[in-house]
Amino acid sequence: MDGANTSTAAPVLILLGPPGAGKGTQARMLEDKFGLVQLSTGDMLRAAVAAGTDAGKAAKAVMEAGDLVSDEIVINILRDRLAEDDCAKGVILDGFPRTTVQAQALDTLLGESGQKINAAISLEVDDAAMVSRISGRYTCGSCGEGYHDSFKQPAKDGVCDKCGGTEMKRRADDNAETVGSRLEAYHAQTAPLIAYYGGKGALQKIDAMGAIEEIAEGLSAIVTKATA
Ligand code: ADP
Ligand code: ZN
Repeated sequence: MDGANTSTAAPVLILLGPPGAGKGTQARMLEDKFGLVQLSTGDMLRAAVAAGTDAGKAAKAVMEAGDLVSDEIVINILRDRLAEDDCAKGVILDGFPRTTVQAQALDTLLGESGQKINAAISLEVDDAAMVSRISGRYTCGSCGEGYHDSFKQPAKDGVCDKCGGTEMKRRADDNAETVGSRLEAYHAQTAPLIAYYGGKGALQKIDAMGAIEEIAEGLSAIVTKATA
C-alpha cells in the first residue's frame, strides 16, 4: 500500500476570515451539503459562558471586550470536542485556529489521529463592510440559523424560515465598539495564518463580498475538489 494515501481519512476544513466574513453561515451550508460537522469555538465558548463552567467564567469578559480567549482554554475545548464520535464524519473548523499556537496545536492533534487538513479557505472581505454586517446580524434561538436586518431577512418578520422559531437573539459582542477590537485581534493574531497555510500548500482563497448563495457555490466547488 502507498503510505501517502490518506484519502480515507475524514475531511478537515478550516474557514479563515475576519468576524462578519460569513464563516458561520457558510459552515452551516457545508455541514448540510457535505455531511460534515461544524465546530465553532465561538459557539462552544458562548455555551461555556451560559453554563457557567470554569472556562466560561474565564472567557466571558475577554469575549465581551472583543479580545481572544487564551490558547489554553480554546485548545482544550476543541480537543475534547474533536474526540467525540460525530467528528469521524469530518469537520469544518469555524473560528479555530485563531493564533499560530492554536494552528500548531491542531497540526499535532490531527497528526496523532492520522488526519490532515484538506483545505484552509480564506474568506476575503473588506474590513469596512464588516462593521455593518456584524451590527445587523441575529440568529434563531432554536436552530441557530443566521439572519441580518438588511442582507438576509426571514420571509415572515420574526419567524425563522428553517424551524418556525420566534425567538431571535443578538450576541452581546455584536456592537460597533466591540467589532473594532475583534477586527484588530483578527489582523494582529489570525491573519498571519493565511501565510501559515499558504506555506503548507493548503490555502484556498474565495471572494466573500458577494451574495451568500454565490459564495456558497464557490465554496462547494473548493470543498468538492479538496475532499475528492
Ligand atoms: P466572530 O468570528 O464573529 O468574531 P466567534 O463566534 O467565532 O465570532 O467568536 C466570538 C469570540 O469568542 C471571539 O471574539 C473570541 O473572544 C472568542 N473566540 C472564539 N474562538 C476563539 C479562538 N479560537 N481563540 C480565542 N478566542 C476565541
Ligand atoms: Zn430556526
